[in-house]
Amino acid sequence: MHRILVAAVVVLVAASESTAQTVEPRYASEIETLASTPTVEAAMQRIEALDPWGMERLVELNEIPAPPFGEEARAERFAELLREAGADSVWIDAEGNAVGLLRGRIGDRTVALGGHLDTVFPEGTDVTVREVGDTLFAPGIGDDTRGLVVVLTVLRTMAETDLQTDDDVWFVGTVGEEGLGDLRGMKYLFREGVAPIDSWIEIDGGGIGGVTSMALGSVRYRATFEGPGGHSWGAFGGANPAHALARGIRHFQDVADAHALGSANQLQRRGHRRRHLGERHSIRGMGRGGHALGEPGEPAANRGGAPDRDASRAR
Ligand SMILES: [Zn+2]
Repeated sequence: MHRILVAAVVVLVAASESTAQTVEPRYASEIETLASTPTVEAAMQRIEALDPWGMERLVELNEIPAPPFGEEARAERFAELLREAGADSVWIDAEGNAVGLLRGRIGDRTVALGGHLDTVFPEGTDVTVREVGDTLFAPGIGDDTRGLVVVLTVLRTMAETDLQTDDDVWFVGTVGEEGLGDLRGMKYLFREGVAPIDSWIEIDGGGIGGVTSMALGSVRYRATFEGPGGHSWGAFGGANPAHALARGIRHFQDVADAHALGSANQLQRRGHRRRHLGERHSIRGMGRGGHALGEPGEPAANRGGAPDRDASRAR
């Protein structure tokens, strides 16, 4: 008997609060004081002056394809740019993350500033940047090549203006942020990185109107449905796991919504026939936007934007 195996990978993100942002007065005054110090003022001017350089890096990096699980070439170039921008040391770790270290005066804590190297777009996507008026268009340019350029610009500015920190600062391009990457780069850095990370600041997505300041959990499940299935005509009336899977997804979504569990997303469907003369079928699809932001209790990678847009933009 032919059997069809249908598997689904489901992402479930734990409860999150999305409330309007207010800034506590003590933070506002701290920021004001910091912003008006001559060193920081000079740094801000340097950032403005580096914009043309940043735009060139944006186009260059974006045109190095970095589909999920294919970030190596972009990581290599990003690591080179970290070196050129003035990092004290640069490495690519076993998972594929590119990290540049700027040593702090004391160095007993580590603050990381990161963006993600991978894009949601599959291998073979044309990632050429198109300029229309004052806007650059290309798959992945806003999410998250722009984030990588922000990371490089801050590093270069700090190195060139001799803006020193007490803590060590890591400038990072992570792998595996999108889709089935399951935050593998971020998880590696927190579990097996060369130093414990005390704070993480992630630049991701096009929105600059808000800051996500808390961690969210990300839980993934794999559900497999097995049944006889078979030919649509010859096996008519029999149990088909694809139909059960569809009902399962629907049920999951209803339950998740009813319990306000946060953002839930069915990420990939796959089906194939076994013991049949080479016949296979597969279905892939993205559901509504679901964002995976780290394991429960871990500092989070910020996420923004719809994962299944066909192009994002910057500038
Ligand atoms: Zn992103």
